[in-house]
Amino acid sequence: MEERVARACDAAGREREEVTLVVVTKTYPVEDVRLLAGLGVRHVAENRDQEAAGKASACAELPLQWHFVGQLQTNKARSVVRYANFVHSVDRLRLVAGLSAAVRREQRPDLRCLIQVALDKESGAGEERGGVAPAGIEELADAVAEAPGLDLAGLMMVAPLSGVYAGRPETAFARLRDLSSGLRLRHPAATMVSAGMSADLEEAIAAGATHVRVGSAVLGVRPDLG
Ligand SMILES: *Cc1c(COP(=O)(O)O)cnc(C)c1O
Repeated sequence: MEERVARACDAAGREREEVTLVVVTKTYPVEDVRLLAGLGVRHVAENRDQEAAGKASACAELPLQWHFVGQLQTNKARSVVRYANFVHSVDRLRLVAGLSAAVRREQRPDLRCLIQVALDKESGAGEERGGVAPAGIEELADAVAEAPGLDLAGLMMVAPLSGVYAGRPETAFARLRDLSSGLRLRHPAATMVSAGMSADLEEAIAAGATHVRVGSAVLGVRPDLG
């Protein structure tokens, strides 16, 4: 995987240091997380609070940064802020308020938040998945930036499976890059662009991703959880 990321950076004319590999460890056991840490991985991601909380506490002594990348119910905010350094899936104002209150109640260091963008919401599809339509980014970003205990870190996207961007990850990631440029006019420090998974990390890196979230291409195909 290191080689694949390095090649993608090379092809895009970017330095390897510009892209952080975040290994998505969902469904894999704690032993795999330990193994990854031993191999030098420093960023891991999970998408379910219950599983993440258990693994993070079992790995508390390891030098890992934990990224939460799944849809997040507001009532889980208090649990998530206990272990997460980053939440990539901020997509509504209620969640911003919930995370901010949770960080303060739990007396945690500032939580780095990314706004999850859903391009397919423009066309009315994709309602069941997380994310906010591009038109909603500014309001959410301002709310995160103003919320005590939260830092606005950037944008996250999963390449759409429906709508006009379905099957066109290059176009989707190019759009994300434009949205990120727009965001940085107002919030210059929000430089993270979390995009690209096992299937499309090359396209994401070519379009400026700073963080790729890779699961199966590192750890093998997950058992089907439904
Ligand atoms: C599972 C997951 C990934 C990783 O997907 P792979 O195809 O296994 O690389 C990335 N991002 C999110 C939000 C995920 O839920």
